[in-house]
Amino acid sequence: MPKLWLAANWKMHKTVSEGQAFVARLVEQIPGLIKPGAGEIRVLIFPGFVSLQSVAAAARDTTIRIGAQDCYFEAHGAFTGEVSLPQIKDGGGSAVLIGHSERRHVLGEDNLLVAAKLKATVNAGVLALLCVGELAEERDAGNAFSVVDEQLETALANRSGITERTLAVAYEPVWAIGTGRNATIPDVEEMALYIREKLLEYVDEEHGREVSILYGGSVKPGNLAAYMGIPDITGALVGGASLDADSFAALYREMEGP
Ligand code: PEP
Repeated sequence: MPKLWLAANWKMHKTVSEGQAFVARLVEQIPGLIKPGAGEIRVLIFPGFVSLQSVAAAARDTTIRIGAQDCYFEAHGAFTGEVSLPQIKDGGGSAVLIGHSERRHVLGEDNLLVAAKLKATVNAGVLALLCVGELAEERDAGNAFSVVDEQLETALANRSGITERTLAVAYEPVWAIGTGRNATIPDVEEMALYIREKLLEYVDEEHGREVSILYGGSVKPGNLAAYMGIPDITGALVGGASLDADSFAALYREMEGP
């Protein structure tokens, strides 16, 4: 069985103490997360910047990895308000969400900025979880595949250093994020297959085949197993249902299977 990813995007939620309490409760629920770790599922938590270091410290004796929800592409300098890869790594982060739909559509990031952030992340030896996905109107107009293609092609234009260790892709249709409106299994299956083809083309045959593809968009306990049954899907990126440790633990158990 391939390694699976269960990733939590806390967005702009949780204080330092709430983040620490989450980790304690999750480990209580899933003791197999304590090092050396018993399972096949890799848990990845993306807290806000302010709590990244404290959540990483709380997770020190576990296999849980911590990541940042964003980064800047320069390593240091006069970029007030931005956070660099060296700062993220120093705080205990080993992954970064790149191009999340809220960064793209609420905060105005375009494909070129996403590409610069991805390149910086890969160069820093940090896992980039690249988020791609179409808006509802783009799907309705029949453009879902071309939108995702452009997002992938631009982000992966500089393929140097990209392997399954530095890249994972999350397919997150924008209309399914935080809406309770799930993408259908056939739609996700078709898109995952398309993303796999594009990874083979834009990365290379060897590594493109191994890069993990996650689904994200209103995943919650009860609907995760169906997505995990899709051949090219090896994980999930979860927002709302990741905020409560018991709900996240339920997702972990559902991913483990019966
Ligand atoms: C997300 O934030 O990436 C996400 C998928 O959110 P939700 O699970 O709430 O749809």
